Parts: sequence; C-alpha cells; structure tokens
Amino acid sequence: MSSLKDYEKKRTFTKTPEPGPKKKSTRTGRMFVVQKHRATQLHYDFRLEVDGVLKSWAVPKGPALDPTVKRLAMQVEDHPVDYAKFEGVIPEGEYGGGTVMVWDYGTYEPEETKDVGGALRRGELKFSVKGEKLQGSWTLVRTRDRQWLLIKHRDFYAAEGIDVTEIAPASIVTRWTLAEIAEDEGGNVKKAATGDPKQIPRRTGVKRRKQGQRKKVWHSNA
Ligand code: MN
Repeated sequence: MSSLKDYEKKRTFTKTPEPGPKKKSTRTGRMFVVQKHRATQLHYDFRLEVDGVLKSWAVPKGPALDPTVKRLAMQVEDHPVDYAKFEGVIPEGEYGGGTVMVWDYGTYEPEETKDVGGALRRGELKFSVKGEKLQGSWTLVRTRDRQWLLIKHRDFYAAEGIDVTEIAPASIVTRWTLAEIAEDEGGNVKKAATGDPKQIPRRTGVKRRKQGQRKKVWHSNA
C-alpha cells in the first residue's frame, strides 16, 4: 500500500512551502519527474507516479545515459503527486532543507507489465520515459532494502561519454540554475551554487528576472 504518512511525519507544513500529503492522480497516471535537490548533499530525486503517489528514489550522482553505468538510487518516502510542481527553497533546519529544482518532467510507460506497484514490490521495473532531458528505456532494480540501481537500457537515447547533468543543468520550468532559484526565493545562494556546474551552458532567449518577479510557468502534459 502506498501511503503519504512518512512524508507527512517528516515535515511541518507551516514551515515548509512543500505541498501537503494529498493523494491524487494525473490524467495519464504515469507522470515522471526528476528534481535536483541541494540539501546536505546534492542529489537527484527520481519520481514515478504509481497509484496516486510519487514513488521516489534519491540518486546521488543523477541519471546516466551510459548503459554501462549503474547509478545508486536510494528509495525514499512516497511523495504527493503535487510535489512534481515544487521548485523553490525548503528552509534550513527543516527536513531536506535547501534548494529544489524541477530538472526533468514528462510521462513514463512500464514495459512488460501494467502492474507498476507489483513490479516495484518484486524489486524490478523496466520502463520508458518521455521527458525533455531523459528519454527511452530504463530499469530500476533493487539490490537490498531501500537500495536500488537506476540503469539506462541500450537504445537510441543511450549515450556514452556525455554527462546529462553537466550539459543540461537547469530547470525545465524556469531554465534557472539552483543558485538563481535560491536567489529568487531567499535561499542560501552560495550553498545552492555548489550544485551548479562551474561552466554553465549559455542560455538563449532567457532573461534573468529581478528578485521577486518570478513568473510561474507550468505546463502539465501528464
Ligand atoms: Mn531530496
């Protein structure tokens, strides 16, 4: 049974801007989102919508497009579906305190099964994603307890020698870096900047806004 009890217990909703523990489903029921999160350590939260919640894994090094690379993915508490829209700052001292970015977003389809919850309980899910940065076929396989591996399958979208977290570091919602999100939301800019690459690829057609003039842009296709 998926539940948001753990999610709720870890947070004080009068102190964090994160969404409350409400179950719901998107139209497709198959949303996927990756959130880049500079908490105590930088990591990428990989989330798949399953039965009204987001099943979630913290991937310290982020997803790799190279099929020979197995990325550690620590399963964390289920998150509410509304969490996929969350980009901003969790106050220091609160659970997960730091800056959160919507790094990739889209839909996924399970492969070889329709029962995603069952596949995850058995410890292996093959699926394909349609995101902006991540596409094609992947596996999540459990090695023990909460420890899983995230592996890219060999397909058209596989790529060796390219670090997708380096070439595509910014938010897909605002095109902002972690430091820019922290600056806009009154977070710790210096800490957030340690999650940005030293060389940020030049953005085109995106003007930096002044603090507090943040435009809420959200296109849901799930
Ligand atoms: Mn996280």
